[in-house]
Amino acid sequence: MLEAADDIRRKESTMAASAVLIRRRDVFWRGQAPFVFGTVVLVGFVLIGVPSAIGDAFFLLGLGVTALATASIAIVPWNQLPSNALIAIPLSDIVAVAFLRESLYAALPSTGLLIVFPVMWLSYRFPVSAIPLSAIGALYVTALPILAGRPAPATGRDWASLFLLPALITIVAVTVHAAARLLRATRAEARRVLNEAEQANALALTVANSVDAAIVHFLPDGSVGMRNQATFAQAEIAEYDKASKSALAAYEADRRTPLRREDQPIYRALRGEEFRGLLYWIGRPGNQHAIVANSVGVHTDDGAFLGTVLVGHDVTDLANAISVREEFLVAVSHELRTPLTSIIGYLDILSDAHDLDALGIRREVSTIQRNADQLHAIISDLLTSNASEIRVRPGPVDLAHVVRECAEAVAPRAHVLGIDVEVDAPERFDADADASRIGQVIDNLLSNGLKYTPRGGRVSLSLVPGDTEFSIVVTDTGIGISQSDQRQLFDRFFRAQEVRDQATQGLGLGLSIVRTIVDAHHGRIDVESLPGKGSRFTVTLPLHQRRR
Ligand code: ADP
Repeated sequence: MLEAADDIRRKESTMAASAVLIRRRDVFWRGQAPFVFGTVVLVGFVLIGVPSAIGDAFFLLGLGVTALATASIAIVPWNQLPSNALIAIPLSDIVAVAFLRESLYAALPSTGLLIVFPVMWLSYRFPVSAIPLSAIGALYVTALPILAGRPAPATGRDWASLFLLPALITIVAVTVHAAARLLRATRAEARRVLNEAEQANALALTVANSVDAAIVHFLPDGSVGMRNQATFAQAEIAEYDKASKSALAAYEADRRTPLRREDQPIYRALRGEEFRGLLYWIGRPGNQHAIVANSVGVHTDDGAFLGTVLVGHDVTDLANAISVREEFLVAVSHELRTPLTSIIGYLDILSDAHDLDALGIRREVSTIQRNADQLHAIISDLLTSNASEIRVRPGPVDLAHVVRECAEAVAPRAHVLGIDVEVDAPERFDADADASRIGQVIDNLLSNGLKYTPRGGRVSLSLVPGDTEFSIVVTDTGIGISQSDQRQLFDRFFRAQEVRDQATQGLGLGLSIVRTIVDAHHGRIDVESLPGKGSRFTVTLPLHQRRR
């Protein structure tokens, strides 16, 4: 605000010298026109009411001065004169008012009111020194009759009529001048704020354009507020269709299944949804890009919704590196499995065909057998944890039986570890599932429960039936899992730091296998856990499987 006021002061002081371009049309319409129209109205009234005044010398003089002042706008080369030279026009108008008032002194005394127009111009457009000029001009208007020979003021009334108009006009001039200053200050402030906003906008756009991620701001009405360069490239690859507001070439994480319109990040962001880390693929086979999308709502400090910002990171290189790793793991696991199966087979033959005790090698052969079995289990886990390797063959099964069998299988180990295992399942529960895979899910969850629960704890397994879906819940009173670890729990090879520090056995594959099997059954798995208190894993599966 202060800067704005300084700005005006500077402008005012330089006005006389500065070479501001003066446009004649503006001078007429913004300065002189109201006075000309006022004079035309006056002439109309004179023609109707006092036609005799038309021939009066002062009247003609008044009109002449008005005409000259108006014509000067078009004739005088104002741009070659100091800009304040224009002050001559409103001053001439005041002189014209004095002449017109003198000629209509008795007939139309309110003619003097015409002075308001030039005074407003003077005080609005010119420096503060124009205010005394307005007052002197008004005095000239009221004093002209005396100068023209009428009797000098003698009574108080005469003096009042001499000074009333100048006094009122001074008040008008001061008021208009103050209003003009305020207006200019407000305008300067608005311009400053606008400049700042433009600069912030330019900065945001430059920053947005300097990153590889696509960034789009959707306004609440669904239109685009801002987008960066990278957006265009991604939209082209994804074959974005403006009409349907969806991408024609967008696929799920498997790169093949087309992503339904309502699941597409753009569509979800347009509905104001917020999400993070949504992985999908765009582009036709041969030119596919992996994108991780985040959508965040934009709100002002007072909570007003300004739309959503959608960010799409191109993670193709990372995704390719991961798939190379997966392929490598699968290839190596396959290669290792064949000779290992042969080793295990020959070890069996060895123990069946020979008396190991007599040979004195039973202990050694058992150690080899145990390690070979362990290696076989690891390789199976590695292969099973790869989604493409997993086969699920659902069929009618009594899950209550599966649940009880799993619990019985871990009972001896639980006994050794000093952990109670509780089972809660109905007598019988028929569902549609792959019994051995579901058994694998329960085994993994139970085995984790035992692994991560200290002696004296409890692990419970329950089967909760439902009308369209059912749940298998494994709860323990163990070490629990922190919030941040819960987010990565189902990633392959993930193991909590604490678990790694304690050198607890494991590869971090169990839960990823669990998830793969649950996904293949079109189910879901949820975890609730409090560090130090325990964890609960809930697997929810549909009662009936869709047939492919
Ligand atoms: P592994 O048990 O072989 O390490 P998992 O995939 O089964 O691999 O589990 C991954 C990680 O999740 C574990 O290393 C452990 O940190 C954590 N975790 C899994 N189950 C539990 C549990 N019941 N209680 C506490 N932590 C668990």
